[in-house]
Amino acid sequence: MAKKVPLFVDGEFIDSEADEWIEVTNPATNAVIAECPVTPGVEIERAIASAKAAQGNWREVPVPERARYLMRYQQLLKAHQQAIARTLAEETGKTLTDANGEIWRGIEVVEHAMGLPTLLMGETLANVAAKVDTTSWRQPLGVCAGITPFNFPAMIPLWMFPLAIGCGNAFVLKPSEQDPLTPTRLAELFREAGFPPGLLQIIHGGKAQADALLEHPDIQAVSFVGSPTVGQHIYRTATAHFKRAQCMVGAKNHMVVMPDADKRQVIEHLVGAACGAAGQRCMAISVAVLVGEQTRAWTGELQSALAKLHPGPATDPAASYGPLISRQAKARVEEIIGEAEREGAKLLLDGRGCTVEGYPAGNWVGATLIDEVTTAMRCYQEEIFGPVLSVMHVADLDQAIELVNRNPYGNGTSIFTHSGAAARKYRHDIDVGQIGVNLPIPVPLPFFAFTGSKGSFYGDLHAYGKDAIRFYTKTKTVIERWFDADTPSGNGPNMTLNLR
Ligand code: NAD
Repeated sequence: MAKKVPLFVDGEFIDSEADEWIEVTNPATNAVIAECPVTPGVEIERAIASAKAAQGNWREVPVPERARYLMRYQQLLKAHQQAIARTLAEETGKTLTDANGEIWRGIEVVEHAMGLPTLLMGETLANVAAKVDTTSWRQPLGVCAGITPFNFPAMIPLWMFPLAIGCGNAFVLKPSEQDPLTPTRLAELFREAGFPPGLLQIIHGGKAQADALLEHPDIQAVSFVGSPTVGQHIYRTATAHFKRAQCMVGAKNHMVVMPDADKRQVIEHLVGAACGAAGQRCMAISVAVLVGEQTRAWTGELQSALAKLHPGPATDPAASYGPLISRQAKARVEEIIGEAEREGAKLLLDGRGCTVEGYPAGNWVGATLIDEVTTAMRCYQEEIFGPVLSVMHVADLDQAIELVNRNPYGNGTSIFTHSGAAARKYRHDIDVGQIGVNLPIPVPLPFFAFTGSKGSFYGDLHAYGKDAIRFYTKTKTVIERWFDADTPSGNGPNMTLNLR
């Protein structure tokens, strides 16, 4: 019988009394490896109540002491990185190298959180009026919640709870029901780091469980990462219940290739950025925008480079990338590829019907290259989330900028060029939140925020960086004056708002 994924409530791993369970599969075989509970309301209530009680004490723990817990956590994550990577690779299908890379990017956020004593400092100004000083203080919100997607089951929870908890909050996480084993590993190490029980709670399930968090009066703020339609629902529901919300959602990321770019670099980076993690990254490059006539000829070499990729299971060190997360995801990607052909695009490389020896049931899709794509086609309009690269051709940089700016998403983009002037113009004029210059996937390190924009983000304050500190705290401002012998008096009541 498949193992049951436990809840993490009040510092303990407990078996849920759920009536309904969701199968967790290995995407390379579709074998069921675990069952994930659809957490009943009473257990969610218990988790939130425990978080609330724990937060009451935690907010009084000195900030340097909180940072020391995070230091222990960071050490444990590093020590267990390989083991977490194996769990992550089994349930997501990622290659072990990619799984390790994902965990490392999460560890970097914990390292950033270790600097919270500095990051949490407020501001001060003496003499804002005669003998009047002002100070501002960052204080925790209470209990925060996180709802996370399947494609980064370690990194994205680590974007959230270490910073939220380090800021003095408790945190209730509802990870993706498609890969709940990795977040469980993160919780095991959290427990081992010695954090007081109750600060991190993990409940499992889908829409109903997410909604329970969004509607609960004891949840103050919600961090969400996932698809656009779900993100819109989360943002509307959370804000309708007067909560803070930050929703990082889907994307369509273009790489603009100028004719003066280094062709070899362009091709290598396009291949990795389009097909790494089987294209299941919100920052994957899914559209190559080739500028000018001479770059048209580059598609042949791009096709040959993509044709060399081969998907495989996490246990195969030579695999370029793994399977898609589910049979449904594979069917949808294959449907979009077929539709592109019917809509008149040129299918230079067709990854449909891909097989991997020894893994007949895996959700494999081969690297796919679609040329002559137009903005009206479904393969352009939707986030494909597969190893599929669309190619579009424009005459010049202005047309490229216009194309990218017209796209409703604004997560990431990239330009490859040798021209400083072209790069400068691109970064200045482009309406996208994260820009790479000769870098295909510009995911900022955690001291900067993850600043996706337009339809890729709903909210005001982004994930990690200084934004996250503001998101997970409220600011208190104190204006103070101490009377002494020199303080003037006897002028009568001050009937204005002015300080005197
Ligand atoms: P998803 O929206 O299907 O699921 C995300 C989370 O929401 C899961 O925990 C899921 O259980 C929950 N959920 C699903 N339906 C819900 C509903 N109707 N109401 C409330 N909660 C619901 O996303 P996914 O398929 O797991 O992840 C892929 C998506 O995430 C892609 O669109 C990708 O671009 C996006 N993503 C964005 C970023 C970013 O930073 N912008 C990062 C990673 C992934």
